[in-house]
Amino acid sequence: MLNIVLMGPPGAGKGTHAMWMAKDYAIPHISTGDMFREAMASGSELGNQIKDIINSGGLVSDDLTCALVKERLSRKDCENGYLLDGFPRTPAQAEALKTFGKEINREVNLVINIGAPDELLIQRIAGRRVCPKCGASFNVNTMKPKVEGICDVCGAELIQRKDDNEESFKVRLTNYYKSTAPLMEFYKNEGVLNDFDGSIEATDLKKVITDCLEAHK
Ligand code: ADP
Ligand code: ZN
Repeated sequence: MLNIVLMGPPGAGKGTHAMWMAKDYAIPHISTGDMFREAMASGSELGNQIKDIINSGGLVSDDLTCALVKERLSRKDCENGYLLDGFPRTPAQAEALKTFGKEINREVNLVINIGAPDELLIQRIAGRRVCPKCGASFNVNTMKPKVEGICDVCGAELIQRKDDNEESFKVRLTNYYKSTAPLMEFYKNEGVLNDFDGSIEATDLKKVITDCLEAHK
């Protein structure tokens, strides 16, 4: 069974690789970023509460995020595995996941950690365009869609995320190094950490991640 946490700085390629992993291994892709963006788009109370934090690149509170993820992981579709993307992002979230994971029988058994140098992350984020409908991710310089501005997967019009600007990106990267990077040590101690180089071609990275998933499934 694959109970996976996907980790890495913004722009490392988590979203891109999460898409095929979830499909090939038939496990739900649970992205806290996507869940928050859906809440914002729906204009719900949660959405309004978190809008300013997200757009500026800050982190949503641990309590709120943990409650949301615990509820989501408890659902039946996660009983044969799951792919968590963007959570945990802080030591408190990792501790909470460890505790409630045991409680609901959904303990993490594999961490896929994708790293990449800052210069590359900045470039990728600046050129990133995403599909608001299916979540597919493109890049105007390096991973162009077949038709400019249109999603290859579902045909919807691509957008640039509000937090994909230089200022918000800097905040996100700083938060990553301060709060999320220490989780590598945490998961190394848990014996589940697997490191990957996110600067190589997406197709090559897919191959090595697949080998890892095959060895652990
Ligand atoms: P990124 O491209 O930075 O990996 P995500 O789509 O994962 O972006 O997340 C977008 C934003 O949603 C984050 O910058 C943060 O504001 C919020 N967010 C997502 N996951 C979490 C989390 N686990 N804890 C707190 N905030 C989160
Ligand atoms: Zn799409």
